[in-house]
Amino acid sequence: MGETGMTVLTASPAVDFYHLDADLTSEEREVRDRVRLFAQRDLLPIAQEYWDRAEMPLDLLSGLARLGIVGGSIEGYGCPGISSAAYGLALQELCRADSSFGTLVGVQSSLAMNAIYYCGTEEQRQHWLPPMVRLETLGAFGLTEPEAGSDATHLQTTAVRDGNTYILNGHKRWIGNATLCDICIIWARTEDGKINGFVVPRETPGYRAGVITGKLAKRSIWQGTIDLADCRIPAENRLAGMSGFGGTATVLMHARLGVCWEAVGSAIACYEIALAHAREREQFGRPLAGFQLVQQKLVQMLNGISLAQLATLHVSRLRDAGSLTPAMSSMLKMNNSAMAREVALHARDILGGNGILGENQVMRHLCDLEALYTYEGTHDINMLVVGREITGLSAFT
Ligand SMILES: Cc1cc2nc3c(=O)[nH]c(=O)nc-3n(C[C@H](O)[C@H](O)[C@H](O)COP(=O)(O)OP(=O)(O)OC[C@H]3O[C@@H](n4cnc5c(N)ncnc54)[C@H](O)[C@@H]3O)c2cc1C
Repeated sequence: MGETGMTVLTASPAVDFYHLDADLTSEEREVRDRVRLFAQRDLLPIAQEYWDRAEMPLDLLSGLARLGIVGGSIEGYGCPGISSAAYGLALQELCRADSSFGTLVGVQSSLAMNAIYYCGTEEQRQHWLPPMVRLETLGAFGLTEPEAGSDATHLQTTAVRDGNTYILNGHKRWIGNATLCDICIIWARTEDGKINGFVVPRETPGYRAGVITGKLAKRSIWQGTIDLADCRIPAENRLAGMSGFGGTATVLMHARLGVCWEAVGSAIACYEIALAHAREREQFGRPLAGFQLVQQKLVQMLNGISLAQLATLHVSRLRDAGSLTPAMSSMLKMNNSAMAREVALHARDILGGNGILGENQVMRHLCDLEALYTYEGTHDINMLVVGREITGLSAFT
């Protein structure tokens, strides 16, 4: 209980109105329950205080490594090779407790590791992935630049070949773990005009990262700026399996699905907290939950979450069957981020004044969801990706 007497621990198991549990394999349930235990027992009780201090609970990384989820559905290289749903449910459970921590997993696993997996050669995968699974090597994903956000294809960072090396110059912004990582996948343009990924060790001379301060969302995970000034790396660090923006887009398509699960996790937490509060809090002689307007909000929240769960599980199955498309991933991200944002707003409202207190968790989720609404393609850009798919006309290029 928080100081306001409210229940702050979310109930377990999570919302499952359409009995989706029955559609999960025993392995998927087992992964979810293992992560749920870790998240509820070790992460949730400290999430708000770390968020307030804008610090990541790095002590939990060894426990995270033991959960067997980092590397997700990648087969081999020491990765767990679990289904997309199992990995997604793991992200859901982490974000249900603390979405900054979930983002840390997303950056490591969905972005940095998947970049090496999809765009690297077999040799590069064997070299880089095993220590990343064990979290001995922390990764980051450097795509966004000060002048290239939604319009990532116009990135300006350059990579010029010089003998057995590449020399990188440019600026990156909003890069998760830029200051903490061991390696950052830097997306840069080579002399042929193509965008390529480069594995850049953070200690390389010429790599200078700084934390972006003053954030009011995802406070526990640091995003940074990166300045690359004649940053020289071995030529073998260019991800040579797939070049061109198609490689980057492939990584993002898969990573976006993880973000969809993250949104569901945060929404579930907000719904559970709001429902518990509405049942406990009495006004006008009865529980808030007994008023029609409050029930309407609760039902809208549950409806949004339940439809998102159905769609997200289904699209995860499509991914495992090899049928995921960029437009599917975009439409789901668009839907889930908007749904979660609305659920968080309703929850904040149902909690009344207590809704703005950190100890009651909802405000943290609400702020974090604002960041989720923007990263991995903003809500509107994802909508335009779907618009292009159905009309054949691009509204943004
Ligand atoms: C917390 C956080 C973590 C992040 N982590 C990473 C990371 O690890 N690595 C990384 O590379 N990047 C990361 N990003 C960057 C993120 O991907 C970008 O913020 C995102 O792509 C949007 O770019 P922008 O912020 O420059 O916004 P802009 O592109 O400037 O967009 C601003 C607004 O304009 C709208 N807009 C833009 N173009 C159009 C158009 N053609 N039509 C209609 N509307 C349009 C957008 O939808 C948005 O509403 C992160 C961002 C945040 C906030």
